[in-house]
Amino acid sequence: MGTVVDAPAVVTEKEVVAENMLGDKKVTVVFVLGGPGSGKGTQCSNIVEHFGFTHLSAGDLLRAEIKSGSENGTMIENMIKEGKIVPSEVTIKLLQQAMIKNENDKFLIDGFPRNEENRAAFENVTKISPAFVLFFNCSEEEMERRLLGRNEGRVDDNIETIRKRFKVFVESSLPVIEYYDAKDKVKKIDAAKPIPEVFEDVKAIFAPYAKYVIIYQAT
Ligand code: UDP
Ligand code: MG
Repeated sequence: MGTVVDAPAVVTEKEVVAENMLGDKKVTVVFVLGGPGSGKGTQCSNIVEHFGFTHLSAGDLLRAEIKSGSENGTMIENMIKEGKIVPSEVTIKLLQQAMIKNENDKFLIDGFPRNEENRAAFENVTKISPAFVLFFNCSEEEMERRLLGRNEGRVDDNIETIRKRFKVFVESSLPVIEYYDAKDKVKKIDAAKPIPEVFEDVKAIFAPYAKYVIIYQAT
């Protein structure tokens, strides 16, 4: 029996920077963006149910990190109370871990990236770029009404922090949406309508990702 000697692996640059690969799985990522109270979380639950995506809310991951007693917990909590954006490396690590842990290959990343630095860092670290960006467009008046009306016990759902979150959204997050818009990647939704009507518009966008395609044959 001869000895089998492995040929040295030739790693081309293309493989090293392979796009949208997470370990050995190829992933589809959709960023779900919109102001606080624009309905991102609500519509993400609908998308999960109908289109088989996994929903990763950056805000929920950060809140879970606080609860877990992590060493970053106090820092994260203070940022959230002030409506400020948590350092990219913290949020990116949580998102990356969540995607690796999950067997799915289709993810909705809700509430991230919130500024240009978040966006660039995510793309640099993960080499993942979104298939598209779902943007829930809603007036501040309507978003404020929803945030004050919901009662989830969040430390940032008070009028003072809400106003700060609106300001951060306009100053830091809208430029991210503009960046992707320039690349023709933004799908904008009128999010001021009632939940079922918004979902009708969302459904039309996600149709290519339908779990089952039902072909109706007329007889
Ligand atoms: N947050 C953050 N980075 C993220 C997502 C959330 O720093 O990528 C923080 C930020 O302080 C934000 C808060 O978490 O105001 C709540 O975010 P979430 O997306 O839950 O709520 P939204 O403001 O969109 O309603
Ligand atoms: Mg949310």
